[in-house]
Amino acid sequence: LRVLGIESTCDETAAAVVEADAAGRGRILSNAVLSQIAEHAAYGGVVPEIAARAHVDVLDRLIRRALDEAGCALADIDAVAAAAGPGLIGGVMVGLTTGKAIALAAGKPFVAVNHLEGHALTPRLTDGIDFPYLLLLVSGGHSQLVSVDGVGDYRRLGSTVDDALGEAFDKAAKLLGLPYPGGPKVEQAARNGDPERFDLPRPMAGRRNPDFSFSGLKTAVRQEAEKIAPLTVGDVSDLCASFQAACVDVVVDRCRAALRVLADQPKPPSALVAAGGVAANGAIRRGLARLCLESGLRLALPPVGLCSDNGAMIAWAGLERFRLGWTDGMDFVARPRWPLDSRSDPRWHGKA
Ligand code: ATP
Ligand code: MG
Ligand code: FE
Repeated sequence: LRVLGIESTCDETAAAVVEADAAGRGRILSNAVLSQIAEHAAYGGVVPEIAARAHVDVLDRLIRRALDEAGCALADIDAVAAAAGPGLIGGVMVGLTTGKAIALAAGKPFVAVNHLEGHALTPRLTDGIDFPYLLLLVSGGHSQLVSVDGVGDYRRLGSTVDDALGEAFDKAAKLLGLPYPGGPKVEQAARNGDPERFDLPRPMAGRRNPDFSFSGLKTAVRQEAEKIAPLTVGDVSDLCASFQAACVDVVVDRCRAALRVLADQPKPPSALVAAGGVAANGAIRRGLARLCLESGLRLALPPVGLCSDNGAMIAWAGLERFRLGWTDGMDFVARPRWPLDSRSDPRWHGKA
């Protein structure tokens, strides 16, 4: 089985071809990504209208490149998948409409993919993880702990009550004068910093419910920065290191809480898997590795390039759905908001 996947929900335009062999093992044949960082940098964040136009500008060439690099023509593809949300509506419409048009023109089935499902199923592509598993989804717009029980079968155990973790990294970076996107810049600065210089809070730590909160942590960074302004390069590094250390502690503690919830279930999770852009963070990866070592749980961390937005994750989620016979019609509309797990929501289209 071979699926073409298209991603355009935020500021990455991406197209990829993945395939699965008879045993179900996945392989990435091509994975073309174009980031719009340069277009948005001057504004300190993603500008939706600029993003949508930039997707229009490059998507056709990018799909061509993905097919060429995979060495296949449209005739060799079994289905076309596109992210149909959640995300910036203009951008989502660009990728979704393009995907539908290609499917229609080539006479191929179409699969609408929830962007978060793409992140959630990536460890099955990279590591062949079996259901059920505990998913830590930490990205620019989401922070959740989810029990992934099957394709389209997601149970949210906890989520953030305010900011997402990636958003907290980006906001902390901004107030410390680091350029957008802030997450990788904070990690870089933290390398030379003292993680113990500032005593920052660990919001939600110790709570039984595996929820997150990050806005207080970001505020604490601002308060510490104001106390010692003007900041030297060393101060910024120390603040970044202290902030990142607090994030790692919180994430590990919250995963522990989720594992306690799952301990009462009949079937234990086969692994802890991390996904989403923040899962690229080295300190967080090391924190999760320590947790898994201590709890004897398998850990699956997709390579950094497959943590942030990409086309392979959409192609793979599309392939997993297609394999179960779940395809979507040309009337499938873009969904700016689309929770992964809400079966009561009529827009949810997981397993019936
Ligand atoms: P969502 O997936 O929730 O719709 P998104 O697609 O914008 O949001 P991703 O592309 O998955 O999010 O992740 C981007 C986020 O990850 C940004 O907030 C970015 O700062 C953060 N990020 C990327 N690399 C790192 C890193 N090394 N350390 C910390 N954060 C990082
Ligand atoms: Mg992005
Ligand atoms: Fe994402």
